Amino acid sequence: MRMPRPIWITISGMARCPDNSDRIGASTAAAAISTKVATEEEFTPFRRGAGGASSYIRPRLRPGWEPARPRDILMRQTLLAPAGEAPREDSHARTTGVDARHSAMLTVVGPNGADQHEAAGHPERPARILAVMDGIADLHLGSDVLVVPARAATVEQLHRVHAPAYLDELEQFCAAGGGHLDQDTYATAASWEVARQAAGAGLVAIEAVRHHGGTALAAVRPPGHHALIDRSMGFCLINNVAVAAQSLVDAGERVVIIDWDVHHGNGTQAIFWDEPRVLYVSTHQWPCYPGTGRASEVGGDRARGLTVNLPLPPGATGDVVQHAFDQVVSPMVDRFDPTWVLVSAGFDAHRADPVGDLGLSSGDFAALATVVSGYVPALDRVVLFLEGGYDLGALRSSVSATVGALVGSSAPSEPVTSGGPGWDHVRDIAERRRTGLG
Ligand SMILES: [Zn+2]
Repeated sequence: MRMPRPIWITISGMARCPDNSDRIGASTAAAAISTKVATEEEFTPFRRGAGGASSYIRPRLRPGWEPARPRDILMRQTLLAPAGEAPREDSHARTTGVDARHSAMLTVVGPNGADQHEAAGHPERPARILAVMDGIADLHLGSDVLVVPARAATVEQLHRVHAPAYLDELEQFCAAGGGHLDQDTYATAASWEVARQAAGAGLVAIEAVRHHGGTALAAVRPPGHHALIDRSMGFCLINNVAVAAQSLVDAGERVVIIDWDVHHGNGTQAIFWDEPRVLYVSTHQWPCYPGTGRASEVGGDRARGLTVNLPLPPGATGDVVQHAFDQVVSPMVDRFDPTWVLVSAGFDAHRADPVGDLGLSSGDFAALATVVSGYVPALDRVVLFLEGGYDLGALRSSVSATVGALVGSSAPSEPVTSGGPGWDHVRDIAERRRTGLG
């Protein structure tokens, strides 16, 4: 029998039973394993870079595998190595760095939070990340996608955004085993590290697009846009997009943050309320959690007008959101002249999402992505951050459509939507901003 060439595979996550409705992607049953020597025939690499770059790979169903444990499988690192030789820690680390020799149309940082940070029955759950990765896999980008692991943000980087006392409290809460921080938000013993990785993913994404070109997606959880300077909130522990935006501001850049999550990003707004180098734009359902995001909230004295809120009524469709971008956001962005676009890409504005009532489709997210990528001269200044999105099928198709629009892949997506309410809201907001931000 021919001995197949072995590859070392580090696997995070587990498989879900095929009959489980929460299952994502492949009809695979496999045991939870952490590191395994497998044959190339056992796995179908989604992407394997020359010399052992990171890969996201999907298992084939193999006879003799252990029965499934109730989780999806996520295989995230492939390191080609000689037979019998385990990957050294430093070879793993090499894949986490940004190597300027490679170019990529898309860098995915993560997946992060696919197998940790979980509370029974909570909608903000590890399977979301698997849906995101399936959405990327659906694009069949081959060697045009590079997957790199996140790296934990340092405490110093987090202090640029969050109060030290809050971070200490969060770390200690997790170290003591975690629990509920409020009625929506939980943390586990693992959450401090997972959240630091999620925050660091954006920093890795920025490095990646600077070196590789293309665009980047931080495929991370927990999400971040509700996290305040000194408080967790709304499933969010650390404000991932804010940590990235602050790092860019510190480097002399001008950043527009586009937040199309169905909820207002109150944390991001508060952090940059009086920051003239950040333009924060949010489209969101109104009224809705967290209760902030009125059109009259426009920024502090040093940054008046640089907070742009577009509250929309339940049922608003993609044409209304596009109209809001045409009438309000794009003219504002032109005046602001950003050097970077960071997107708080929450996909709970999808019409199928269980936690929101806006009426968007995956095609609408693709159209929005096309618009916002035009806010900077090159795609290598655009980074997406996962925020909400709790219907796994909608999340998968929305990620696929959004990223596909940016990288020019013809991923099938739902048609754009139209006919919903909200035109008068947009007209009023546009008028109000023209006449002095009242
Ligand atoms: Zn949300």
